Parts: sequence; C-alpha cells; structure tokens
Amino acid sequence: MSTAAPQKFEFQAEIKQLLDIVIHSLYTEKEIFVRELVSNASDALEKLRHTQLTEKEIFDDKADLEINVTTDDKAKTITIQDFGIGMTRAELVENLGTIAHSGSKQFLKALGEGGAKNANLIGQFGVGFYSAFMVAKSVKVYSHSWRAAEPGHVWTSDGSGSYEIEESDGQRRGSKVVIELKDDCGDYASDWKIKEILERYSAFVSFPINLNGKRVNTVQALWLRSKNEIKDEEYTEFYKFQSHAHDDPRLRLHFSADAPLSINALLFVPKENTEKLGFSRLEASVSLYCRKVLIDAKPKDLLPEWLRFLKGVVDSDDLPLNISRETMQDKALIAKLNTVITKRLIKFFDDEAKNRPEAYAEFYAEFGIFLKEGAAVDYPHKDSLVKLLRYESSLTEKGKTTSLADYVTRLGGEQKEIYYLVGPNRAAIENGPYLEGFKARNLEVLFCYEPVDEYVMNNVREFDGKKLIAADHADVKLSELPKPEGALSEDDTKKLTAFLKESLGERVAEVKASDRLVDSPALALNADKFMSPHMRRMMKAMSKDKGREESPLRVNLEINPRSAVMKRLFETHATSPERAKLVAEQILDNALISAGLLDDASAMVARLNKLLEII
Ligand code: ADP
Ligand code: MG
Repeated sequence: MSTAAPQKFEFQAEIKQLLDIVIHSLYTEKEIFVRELVSNASDALEKLRHTQLTEKEIFDDKADLEINVTTDDKAKTITIQDFGIGMTRAELVENLGTIAHSGSKQFLKALGEGGAKNANLIGQFGVGFYSAFMVAKSVKVYSHSWRAAEPGHVWTSDGSGSYEIEESDGQRRGSKVVIELKDDCGDYASDWKIKEILERYSAFVSFPINLNGKRVNTVQALWLRSKNEIKDEEYTEFYKFQSHAHDDPRLRLHFSADAPLSINALLFVPKENTEKLGFSRLEASVSLYCRKVLIDAKPKDLLPEWLRFLKGVVDSDDLPLNISRETMQDKALIAKLNTVITKRLIKFFDDEAKNRPEAYAEFYAEFGIFLKEGAAVDYPHKDSLVKLLRYESSLTEKGKTTSLADYVTRLGGEQKEIYYLVGPNRAAIENGPYLEGFKARNLEVLFCYEPVDEYVMNNVREFDGKKLIAADHADVKLSELPKPEGALSEDDTKKLTAFLKESLGERVAEVKASDRLVDSPALALNADKFMSPHMRRMMKAMSKDKGREESPLRVNLEINPRSAVMKRLFETHATSPERAKLVAEQILDNALISAGLLDDASAMVARLNKLLEII
C-alpha cells in the first residue's frame, strides 16, 4: 500500500523545451525510442553488475540480469523492463526531470546556436529517455532501487510540463517503463514490428532480451567474432548502438592481438568531427571490456587525448574484472593497452593513406586536426604521426596535398631544411612576398592554413633529419642567384639601405638587400627571431582580448635591388629627399601589409594622399 500521496513536479525549463521539440517534432525515425530505452535498460544492468562486485546487500538479489519487452496490441502499450540498478525517488527526479544527461544537453545547445529548425542536426543526437514521448500519450516508470531500504515508486508523465511521483509497492528490482502509445503509433504495440526493430541491434546488447516471453538475441559480442563473418550493416548498427550515434561510421578497425596483451578491439571514426562544428570538446568514449563485461564506458587513459574522436570497444582478457583506477598495477596495464592500440591505429591510418588515398584525404580534412595535435604533443608517437600529416605546397595544385615524406623525396641535394609558410589560404601565401625567393630557387614550401600549424611545426622541429623552418623566418639563408642586368650596384644599394634606415628610424631594426626577393620591392621580417608574423598576429589578438598594451613593432626590412621601385627611389633620394622619405615609409607599410603586420592604416592613407598630390 502506498503511504504517501502522489507528488507533482515541474520539469526543468530545458526539459520542457526538449519535450516540446521531441513531441511536435522533427523526428522522422520514431522507432529509435526502442533502442534508447533498451540501451538504458542495458546500462542499468551493467551498473548493477558493477554494484554486485562491491556491495553485499542487493535488493531482489535473485532477479536475472535480463530485459523483458512486452507488447499489448489491444491496450496499445509497450513495456520495457529491466532488473538493473533501479532508481530511488531522488534519482527519478534527478535523472528524468533535469538535464543531467550530456547528449540532451548538447542537443539543446546546438538548437540554441541557431539550429532550431534544422532537422539534420537533430539526427546527430540521441535524446535518450525523452524519445519515448515521440510515441507516447503517457509514460510510467516503475522503479525500485537496488538499495533494499528504499521503497518503490512510479513516475508518470504525459510529456507536457509536469510529472508525478508516487510510492508503489510490490516492485521488483530495476525499472519498468510502460508506454501508452499515441493513436497514430499503435504499430509499436505489435509483436512483429518490435521484433524487427530489436533484431537489428539486439545482438550488441550483452544481456538477454525477451520479447513477449521469447528470447530475441543470443548474447554475443560482435568484437569477439571473426571479421569475415560480419557484414558491413552489422558493424554500422553496432556503431550506432554502442556509441549512440546517428551517422554511419567513416572508418573502422577491427583487430585482435595476443602479445604482449590479449586484445580484441573494434574501433570507429565517425563521419563528422563535431568539435569542428563548434560543439563541446569530445570526451574519451572507447569503452573498456574484459571478456564481454563492461569495465568502464569512458576510460580516460585507455587512449591518448588526441584520439578522443574514436568510438568503439576494447576488450582485453588480461584485465582483472574488478579493475580499480587507483592501483599501480592497473595503471600499468592500461598504459600498456594504450601503447599497443595507439601504435596499431597509427599503422591503420598509415595503411589507409597508402591504400585509399582519397578516403584518407576526406578523413584528414575532417580529423586531421587531431593528428596534428598528436604530432605536437604526443612525443612517443611524434615521428609516426608526422608522417600522417598532409599539406598543400608550392608544388601541389590547389586542394591537393603532399606528405612530408614526399616533400623530402623531391629535395635537391643541398637542401637541408623543410620550408613552410603559415597564412590564411593559398592565395594569401602565393601573393605575399615571402614565397618568390623560394620559387626562384625551385625550393618547395609547404602551405599551412590552420592556426595550430605553427604550433605543430614548432613542436615537431624536424622530420627525417631535416629541420622545419618558416620561410618568413629572419634566419633563412638562401643561395645566390645570378644578378640580373640593371640591378643597383652594391655601392648604390648600400647608400639606399643607409638612407632607408635613417628615414624609417625606430620602425626598423635593420635594412638590408635581400636574396629572397624576385619581383616584390621589399619584405618585412619580424626582428624578433622567435616570432613569425603569423605568431605576432595571434599574440596581438590575445593581448587585445586581455586589454594589454602590445610592444611596439620593429621589423627587419629587406629590399630588392633589382626592383624598379628601388631603382627609382635611389634616384629620388638624392634629388628630392622629402619625397623619397614618403616613398620609403610607404614601401615599409606595403611590406607590413603583406606580412599582416600593419596595425593602423590611417597614417598610411594620409601619406598616400600626399604622394598622390605630388604626382
Ligand atoms: P543517458 O542514458 O544518455 O544518460 P537518458 O535520457 O537515456 O540519458 O537517461 C537519463 C538517465 O536516467 C540515465 O543516465 C539514468 O541515470 C536514468 N535511467 C534511464 N533509464 C533507466 C533505467 N532503465 N534504469 C535506471 N536508470 C535509468
Ligand atoms: Mg540513454
């Protein structure tokens, strides 16, 4: 007999919003509610199995670890019952009335960010338990916690603003979700329909599922089966089920190893990189199993951080079932697993790059950023990760990339360095003054378009014994080119650089003739050796954010004695020094613009107007 009257609760505002969308809705595949509820039942059983390892007293201890689904075609109901961990009153409120669940949170965040009516987006998230309201007039959740001292309860809601909780006697351990179907969803009360849905993925549920008293699945772990028996569709369904995903996987790696550890792993790369789409940072989500028993769904140290985009399962016979995250021995085991699996994955990516270059390029466009992160921070795997990086270069076509290894095969005999330039895009790099000196000498330059690239290059430092050097670095020494006819003589050049130094004063640290210019009159190099123009731009953005004063800019100006502009300036500087000074300032500003270093263009505009007047 119930002792307390039903208590009414309002859903948290976010849940109301979520329910509103789920119910009036954007969902086309309503049947996913079955998968969501079975997956919750399976999670609850998994949690119970863990609780059993440490707790002696478990309520209803004889209940089998299984899931029972029943349908009633007359009453138009479907019931999903598990004998899992169950929920107390407080847990019912917390878990089903507030937005604790991260998938739903992300879903709402995405909607908030302008996706409100974008049905595509919705497909990328599971809304978990609330998906029941796509098909339900009302949902009742009967639940009894594994804690014997707690009474049972029933939670009831029709998905509008509120729900009720009432004590309920005679409950078994676990939860029983009873759905009264909407009139147009009566199908989900038919045995055949649910059977068809369950059969599609129930093979991945590691507990028995019974439908109307009949067993639907033989419990078998997909990752332990042999590769050539498994169909692509099975893999895809498994991926969707196991990682709560709604896309198809982009890549998969199914492998086993015996030494140094016994491992069966089934790993997936999703279709899209949601971090890139602006969603929150991904969390490690490759689950760790020991002989089909889940040890940890989100083990932090199983894989390095940069592999956080992977989904799937790692199963190792060598783990103790009651593995704890504290003991040294367990840590060492996990570290060993980490090393073996990471190596295997890198080899897998490498094979993909060789055997299926187009698919690899697509993968790289989406997930390359993680490989770069790995190359920069994962020291033990640095060398093999650098091999996986791809860049456009001065020798590739737009949109085509090269590996560093291929770059090295094209090196001329004397070249001891690998050159790169960082810029927002190909056109910006090609039109800037830094590339021409390299082009004139047939030196290939890698083009880096992402802000992290500079960090990556600075951390990687060298590849195959060749130093990675920014082509706009002040230290780069280039070979002599034959002097073309009509260049300023060395003497005149000296006079001109002295004049420029004097005219430009504090704005330049040094002025000298350049060996890297072919067509452009001048270029600016940051006087600070350790800071490329690109890095300075980033620092500037950062100090602006923090409201700090930045240090005044001083650059090295390199001039091209072959350029018509310089020759003309040389003539003018003797005859009309005033005018020549204006031109000198303008040449410096032009160089700063090319380098992305001009802080304030207003002085330049005023000067340009003056120059135009003179003409
Ligand atoms: P998720 O499963 O991703 O956490 P859901 O919306 O599916 O999100 O479920 C929310 C929470 O409700 C779960 O995290 C769990 O704590 C609780 N829950 C749902 N179904 C059950 C169940 N059958 N048994 C015990 N707890 C459950
Ligand atoms: Mg769930």
